[in-house]
Amino acid sequence: MKVEDKLALNKFDIDREVHIRVDEARCKACDLKPCLYACPAECYVLRAEGHVTFSYEGCLECGSCRFACDKGAIDWVNPRGGFGICYQYG
Ligand code: SF4
Repeated sequence: MKVEDKLALNKFDIDREVHIRVDEARCKACDLKPCLYACPAECYVLRAEGHVTFSYEGCLECGSCRFACDKGAIDWVNPRGGFGICYQYG
């Protein structure tokens, strides 16, 4: 079974409260944008003119983006209890 197939078995209970916030001004000023490469769920997407959009709904809660961003543009907390990803295989 491929990793993508395993990930597709996970369930999400998406919270209305956002658990990751991105400072757009800091993000836009960043040249390397490591978040694009660190996120295994591809939650960060590069748009025109260096603008990065982000969606937290598919977040795997790995925390990689939090450490990859050296500009301090990502404010990351765990989702509230009972929300977020529910891993099928731990
Ligand atoms: Fe992507 Fe992991 Fe950051 Fe979630 S915590 S947005 S899965 S890098």
